[in-house]
Amino acid sequence: MQMSTNEQDYGQDPLAVRDTNAYKAEYVHSFVELWDQLIDWDGRAESEGDFFIRTLKEHGAKKVLDVATGTGFHSVRLLRAGFDVTSADGSPNMLAKAFENARKRDHLLRTAQADWRWLNRDIHDYYDAVICLGNSFTHLHDENDRRKALAEFYATLRHDGILILDQRNYDALLDHKVEPSHDYYYCGDNVRATPEHVDDSLARFRYEFPGEQVFHLNMFPLRKRYVQRLLREVGFQRVTTYGDFQQTYRDEEPDFFIHVAEKR
Ligand code: SAM
Repeated sequence: MQMSTNEQDYGQDPLAVRDTNAYKAEYVHSFVELWDQLIDWDGRAESEGDFFIRTLKEHGAKKVLDVATGTGFHSVRLLRAGFDVTSADGSPNMLAKAFENARKRDHLLRTAQADWRWLNRDIHDYYDAVICLGNSFTHLHDENDRRKALAEFYATLRHDGILILDQRNYDALLDHKVEPSHDYYYCGDNVRATPEHVDDSLARFRYEFPGEQVFHLNMFPLRKRYVQRLLREVGFQRVTTYGDFQQTYRDEEPDFFIHVAEKR
């Protein structure tokens, strides 16, 4: 994928773009500027409630590394709730927007530009919790990259640390069980997020904003059991999966799964 500041460029054959390195070029400045319309901070805070804050507290976490900061929604929420937060992301455009968003809300973000695959090259500290939220892990198109990223998250956790990682319910999409609604994470009223193409190794989503502005993301459709298996294989001892913030759910129902992986 070509780098440009304002327009995405998937080339002649957008469905052929299945590359872990593509994310930086996908999050062009103009898309990042609209991201908060997509995620709608107030609506999202309401639908999530205090799920993440409560889970972190239950595990005694104080020091948190947000590895997929995006525009800063969770970093800011956690700072507000009194956590010690470091905000990392591989996209400089996202980090700049997160910093600006936090400043507007009277917080100063401690940011670090870091790609997950080489996280510990840039982050030299240990954390009680790593969070990777907002369907971010899906950007890794290659199994080796997924294993490498999880191993890096694991290594930056203290011996009793936890990783909280979420994902869209791709099983339902792959198995044609549901049309994706976007009630939970992506709750902006004026934005349509629709899957344009889904196969075993690509979910290409189309994001339509008011004013006919259209962007895409090419993602890897992660199956829930596969992610659970990877988490165990890199060494996490216990993995608890929630569906839309509930522990009991029917497999085809939730929009999102949230995995809480415990190191000890
Ligand atoms: N967590 C934010 C939210 O919920 O709004 C952002 C979610 S956005 C879907 C995914 C984020 O993951 C982007 O900010 C992107 O730059 C980041 N990302 C994707 N692949 C990455 C990688 N390999 N290393 C570091 N960051 C990555």
